[in-house]
Amino acid sequence: MSSKIIVLMGAPGAGKGTQARLIQERLGLPQISTGDMLRALAAEAEDIHTTQASGKLISDDVVIEMVRQRTAAGDCRDGYALDGFPRTIVQAEMLDRLAESQHETLKAILIDVPPAVLEKRLTGRRNCPIGNETYNIYFKPPRVDNVCDVHGVPLVQRADDRVDRVQVRLDTYASQTAPVLDYYKQSDRLEIINGDQEAEKIYSELERILTNG
Ligand code: AMP
Repeated sequence: MSSKIIVLMGAPGAGKGTQARLIQERLGLPQISTGDMLRALAAEAEDIHTTQASGKLISDDVVIEMVRQRTAAGDCRDGYALDGFPRTIVQAEMLDRLAESQHETLKAILIDVPPAVLEKRLTGRRNCPIGNETYNIYFKPPRVDNVCDVHGVPLVQRADDRVDRVQVRLDTYASQTAPVLDYYKQSDRLEIINGDQEAEKIYSELERILTNG
């Protein structure tokens, strides 16, 4: 595998987190999810909580510093998979400088999903508050309504997965993050995978792209 920094791109709900988890399990590269890291910080930082729940972006400075610190950890020595970063051109430029200082090359992979599918994936998503289990009321419901199959506890919905917030997130993606795709395309570092198929199929395409350089 030649590119050691894997950048998973795609709109909210495209399945970046699922693929990053598979990469971590099967290729041993740590998943770095800025959304998860910020949700953990939000418990103590009211301003992060408010911005995140609204569907808008946290400031570049905060996110960039978080990524810089996290990727300096020993487990990132052989590379890592980014999920949810970069989301702006400024972040993408910073990541290029970071990659250079870490002597790593970077490949961006877009998981491409039509907007109508994204909306159902997001508004239907429910999570287990204990484990990593995720469900979807439309596509992958739990055996018992709103209860985790594994832990038997009531499922929760992310504040930003509510219908009104989902629209803000999709608009934010179109205005601020879509330009990042062009940034990678222009430097010939973007691969595109059809994301409207099963997670395992997406993963096998992803692994093929990564192993072929
Ligand atoms: P996610 O879990 O990736 O959908 O991220 C959820 C929310 O966290 C986003 O809507 C933003 O408010 C915030 N967030 C995550 N990653 C970033 C980033 N790279 N830059 C700015 N805000 C972010």
